[in-house]
Amino acid sequence: MKLIIKNGTIVTSVNEYKADILVEDGIIKEIADRISCDADEVIDAQGKLVFPGGVDEHVHYGSFGALLFDTSDAAAVGGTTTIVDFAPQEEGVSLIDAIKRQEERARGQASVDYAFHSVIMDPKESVFEEIAKLPEVGVTAVKLFMAYKGTSFYSTDESILKAMMIAKEHGITSMVHAENADIITILQKKYKDAGHTEPVYHYYSRPPIAEEEATNRAIYLAKIAECPLYVAHVTVKGAMEAIRDAYEEGYPIYGETCTHYLTLTTDYLAKPDFEGAKWVCAPPLRPKEHNDALWEAVQKGWLKAVGSDHAAVAGGFETKKQGLGDFTKIPNGCPGVQDRLAMLWTQGVCKGRITKQKFVDLFSTTPAKVCGLYPKKGEIAVGSDADFVIYDTEYEGVISNKDSYHQTDYSPYEGWEMKGRPDKVILRGITIAEKGKFVGEKGKGEWQKCKPYALAYDNVPRQ
Ligand code: MN
Ligand code: MN
Repeated sequence: MKLIIKNGTIVTSVNEYKADILVEDGIIKEIADRISCDADEVIDAQGKLVFPGGVDEHVHYGSFGALLFDTSDAAAVGGTTTIVDFAPQEEGVSLIDAIKRQEERARGQASVDYAFHSVIMDPKESVFEEIAKLPEVGVTAVKLFMAYKGTSFYSTDESILKAMMIAKEHGITSMVHAENADIITILQKKYKDAGHTEPVYHYYSRPPIAEEEATNRAIYLAKIAECPLYVAHVTVKGAMEAIRDAYEEGYPIYGETCTHYLTLTTDYLAKPDFEGAKWVCAPPLRPKEHNDALWEAVQKGWLKAVGSDHAAVAGGFETKKQGLGDFTKIPNGCPGVQDRLAMLWTQGVCKGRITKQKFVDLFSTTPAKVCGLYPKKGEIAVGSDADFVIYDTEYEGVISNKDSYHQTDYSPYEGWEMKGRPDKVILRGITIAEKGKFVGEKGKGEWQKCKPYALAYDNVPRQ
């Protein structure tokens, strides 16, 4: 099966140039000024941009009460051709079995390619020992939670340090959810005792300083373990600065942020009549000054990638109402895998906050590197998978849940403008989405195995 994409302007994380692309059997075979040969399909990309399909390094399907992989056609429609899910470890289940279970849920269901991070939820010796075996099943990052004390998610500093030390021996990237659990527990009780029930208290009980403290603590732990660290969903200026400063001191400390922390603010949580619950996720949305600091951080490379932290709570707003009368019982998570491109492009590139190259870098190339999927994913080069977004920069519209494939009853970005949209989204040479519609065959995503010693190890010498 041969495909030629003609006359497009290719945008990569470092370049922009006009060229034709020849694809054979789902792989990029040739990139040249002009390609003319027999092909099964020719796509004319005249006047359009061609960039690598998105890699969303932070999504949740089926965990936290989120919808399953059959809803991942939303990723495709939004230009994301690879999703990296967090395989939750249920108590008593080994890390490897947890990954295999999650893979079974994705197989034949996911409409884009998929890979996994491991999540330690049952920290004990046998589990730590298993970290070494993760690369055998194509998983090379492990997430630990500093928050959620009193649940199986929570890890003590001791557990985190142990996990980091083993992870480092095997080229596994340690990731943390950095929020101080005790601060949150105490503040939740304080506000509940004072009779506060509204969703905005989700923010007040998880203040910026709780994230800043935990981020700094994670950095200290990583320094003791002499271990690279990747901080998930950085949302506050102080936490971002701690990561930036540690990196500049020479430590392999990195972080990502997410679409909503760049664009949405605490004001959404404060919407009346419990509507704020729609925007409850953790860490919470922050005041605007933090959004601004995060934009600067992504453009300057202080934070490396932008994930969606997509978690479409099954039942949507109705399910969120479990927290009526008690903001701590609102299920966490917001849909967003479809909107990451539109928000980054419109609010980032079109507003002059990031360049087109930086957009590609944050949306596709660096997430692929972070996950050990590069250069198969995240790049337009000979030998890479033929995953593309053919982007129509002229389109103008607005984000609306009625056009969404998230299969939930609201969009956190309802009414936000869209400048441009994917004209075509191509996965391994096959067009799977066109002009806001999924046109592929559902369930054709393939499992991608992550390689160890990914981006976080770039500056760590190995014996
Ligand atoms: Mn998290
Ligand atoms: Mn998450």
